[in-house]
Amino acid sequence: MSASPPGSTSGLDFDAIIIGAGLSGMYQLYRARELSLKVRVFEAGTEVGGTWYWNRYPGARFDSESYSYGYSFSKELLEEWEWSEHFAGQPETLRYCKYVADKFDLRRDIQFKSRVIAAIYDEDARGWTITLQDGSRHSTRFLITAIGPLSTPTLPRIEGLDSFQGQSFHTARWPKEPVDFKGKRVAVIGTGATGVQTIQTIAGEVGHLTVFQRTPNWCAPLHNGKIDAETQKQIKAGYPELFRRCQETFACFIHTPDPRGAFEVSAKEREAFYEKLYGERGFGIWQGNFARKIRQRVKDPKTAERLIPKNHGFGTRRLPLETHYYEVYNRDNVELVDIKETPIERLTPTGIMTSEKEYEFDIIIFATGFDAITGAFDRIDFRGLDGVRLKDKWKSGPETYLGLMVHQFPNMMMLMGPHTALGNIPRSIEYSVDWVTGLIRFARDKGLTWLEATPEGVMSWTDHVKALGVGLLSNEVDSWMTGINRNIEGKNVRIVARYSGSAPAYRARCDEVAANGYSELRLA
Ligand SMILES: Cc1cc2nc3c(=O)[nH]c(=O)nc-3n(C[C@H](O)[C@H](O)[C@H](O)COP(=O)(O)OP(=O)(O)OC[C@H]3O[C@@H](n4cnc5c(N)ncnc54)[C@H](O)[C@@H]3O)c2cc1C
Repeated sequence: MSASPPGSTSGLDFDAIIIGAGLSGMYQLYRARELSLKVRVFEAGTEVGGTWYWNRYPGARFDSESYSYGYSFSKELLEEWEWSEHFAGQPETLRYCKYVADKFDLRRDIQFKSRVIAAIYDEDARGWTITLQDGSRHSTRFLITAIGPLSTPTLPRIEGLDSFQGQSFHTARWPKEPVDFKGKRVAVIGTGATGVQTIQTIAGEVGHLTVFQRTPNWCAPLHNGKIDAETQKQIKAGYPELFRRCQETFACFIHTPDPRGAFEVSAKEREAFYEKLYGERGFGIWQGNFARKIRQRVKDPKTAERLIPKNHGFGTRRLPLETHYYEVYNRDNVELVDIKETPIERLTPTGIMTSEKEYEFDIIIFATGFDAITGAFDRIDFRGLDGVRLKDKWKSGPETYLGLMVHQFPNMMMLMGPHTALGNIPRSIEYSVDWVTGLIRFARDKGLTWLEATPEGVMSWTDHVKALGVGLLSNEVDSWMTGINRNIEGKNVRIVARYSGSAPAYRARCDEVAANGYSELRLA
């Protein structure tokens, strides 16, 4: 392993600053060191792991198969690390992130408890100056954002939010100490992927659980299980094939949708196919439709109807994967409140007041999600050439070049920002990090100090991303994927924040740019 060189090559404090030490930032640090750059990561939390550091809520776990999620770049790491379950829980994934940090000695270049609040481009120095919350400043030639697509939690806009006297937690800011639920009256607000995981995990532990649901989601069985020794061996032997497959599929998962239309096959065949998917692990199910299953699994017909989504089709929003979630509603200590029928009016010192009545609680859990994709960008004051603010530039939705760069923001590269392929995210992370590393290597080798997306490049990519979204059902429902978050002022107009083409097509386009010597960029 190479030690960091003593000084930057640019006269600035660093050659590269990376913001965020989740999977993106950790891998980018590893690659930047290979270029012998003087590099530092600034991370708001106290540990590596990003998503898996912050989301400690009960039941937090993967919906990607564990072995398809881990890093693929190191054979040694693949050989050493053993996932214990097909869909590992958060504690195990955080252990994995720490293991990676230890193995590659990453922490010596990571500064924790360091939230970046501003990043200003200095045209003369051809570099960026970042400001941390404590007021300290650091300059760098290249700025790489690894701030996460789902890293900025949002609380609901409810009157009296601060008045509640009991304990309250957002799932993505869960305390490090265990929370005692025994005998407690608990509320969960929100029934997205996180809400579902929390609800099914704590229902058996709490005294009484009240679930406040605005929009039900289609949920499908996760079918998690332990990985036995024989399967472990097969997984390790099969890694090259598994990652090859992830490179070929639309969204980097190990599953591919069946190409046949639902009505191109007989009713009997279709039914058998759906049953098969329902019985399988993971996201293969995304293509099915199972209102009937909910009615079978939930005994009270009124509750079952409340749990069946009416405003979006199956698979048009991210599909929560569950383990006995629907059966939770058959328990005597669980109640479902539909807040479209009886809206929450306010929080009170002792609980939650709806239009119908006041509920008393000891604990309120906000499973109310994130200001997705652009949220972490909005919370840093990015200013590019001529002081232009990123927030202003993206007022009507993000405008990017390949989801990686922005016009008037030279030498800034984004990992997992808007307009990139997400899906099974670490596969996309590894690709984007390698692409960014290739670009910086190119700049270093050619002595370039200015890398900037052109307006034409940005327009062409942004138009392409928008065109891909046209007619796609998932772009025609309100969700975090379309930039809607009723809990945030101004986030009530749908934007195209997400690249919805295939990951292979995305990579092909980016590869082409690199192969052509990045000639679509302004280079100097
Ligand atoms: C509960 C949950 C479950 C998920 N499950 C899956 C899954 O099964 N499969 C999948 O593919 N994806 C999943 N995801 C998505 C997940 O976010 C990505 O897989 C991946 O972890 C993203 O890594 P990242 O490093 O890009 O971002 P993150 O992990 O979000 O890391 C970003 C880091 O940047 C830091 N940061 C942000 N802003 C600043 C700032 N201003 N200053 C300093 N530091 C900052 C944050 O503190 C954070 O540590 C899940 C997300 C959540 C929330």
